[in-house]
Amino acid sequence: MKIAFFDAKPYDKVAFDKFCGENDIKIKYFETKLNEDTVNLSKGYDGVCVFVNDTVNKAVIDCLVELGVRVILLRCAGFNNVDIKYAKNKIKVLRVPAYSPYAVAEHTIALLLTSIRRIHKAYIRSRDYNFSLSGLTGFDLHGKTIGVIGTGRIGKAFIDICKGFGMKVLAYDKFPDNSIIDGDKVKYIELSELFKQSDIISLHCPLMADTHHIIDENAIDIMKKGVVILNTSRGALVDAEALLNGIKSRKVGAACLDVYEEESELFFEDNSGHIMEDEILARLISMPNVIVTSHQAFLTEEALENIAETTIKNFTDIMCNNYSENEIKLEI
Ligand code: NAD
Repeated sequence: MKIAFFDAKPYDKVAFDKFCGENDIKIKYFETKLNEDTVNLSKGYDGVCVFVNDTVNKAVIDCLVELGVRVILLRCAGFNNVDIKYAKNKIKVLRVPAYSPYAVAEHTIALLLTSIRRIHKAYIRSRDYNFSLSGLTGFDLHGKTIGVIGTGRIGKAFIDICKGFGMKVLAYDKFPDNSIIDGDKVKYIELSELFKQSDIISLHCPLMADTHHIIDENAIDIMKKGVVILNTSRGALVDAEALLNGIKSRKVGAACLDVYEEESELFFEDNSGHIMEDEILARLISMPNVIVTSHQAFLTEEALENIAETTIKNFTDIMCNNYSENEIKLEI
């Protein structure tokens, strides 16, 4: 049983090699991403393994089917980069629905604390023996109101952390889970009210047609002045240009982004020797109150191990039984 593994990084190889040996699976690691130009590399493989920035559109799916590939293994939870509707009845698509919600939730709070306590500035100053505190004044999280959009696995783990800090949580979800309601500490609220009342807003919903640009110019208009926006979910949940305008006008107090709308050609790669063509990203990164990480919220040892274990199980389930509980089946 053979897998063509796209967009492979050294840390992927470490995690996957541990599990494929036990299961008599051969993996060929390709550094390139899967797209229309590279899909022919999948010839002779039973499955392809892809990540968040591989392109699995109609043309790629047609080619995979033609090459006899049986399964697309997403080594992530989100599947917005796969044309699921088109794949239906042609090729199986599997994902890893949960691997460590704590990894993403903890990275989100790390970004928030770094931003509001100016740790990124202090770190650079003290390396230069500059021990001045001017400009490093932050604010307490205790008592602040945080709006959490999406209360699934990651949203819930994040809410637990926020409760620990003594924050008041306003939640919004298309499918609320009333078990998380906790008096005045955690309550569900309409999205527009969440925008109006929150000091900090964190995104934990999937990217879908109805969540695309869920934070846009209109949303930012009704937010509190000085609002802190956190996005560790998917880039296109936020209209990056509207965010930049919000930062420039001082309406948005700070932004922490682990994901970016146009990240696919940039993130996970060393672009330090290149001219940054993306003007919006370049401008955002230049802001003292914006922190960008390169889609690394998932990157913990625990998460990588869980991703590899589940992906290999997904593959063997399909190859041996033609069934996996992690197959993506949308009612479409
Ligand atoms: P999940 O499926 O457990 O939870 C998603 C929640 O969003 C659900 O409660 C769902 O009801 C809700 N939702 C769906 N549509 C909505 C809408 N229109 N408005 C508001 N809420 C809506 O998923 P999860 O494991 O918590 O992951 C959440 C997201 O985090 C993923 O979709 C993925 O995009 C992102 N993610 C990012 C990283 C990273 O490294 N940065 C890693 C893993 C996941």
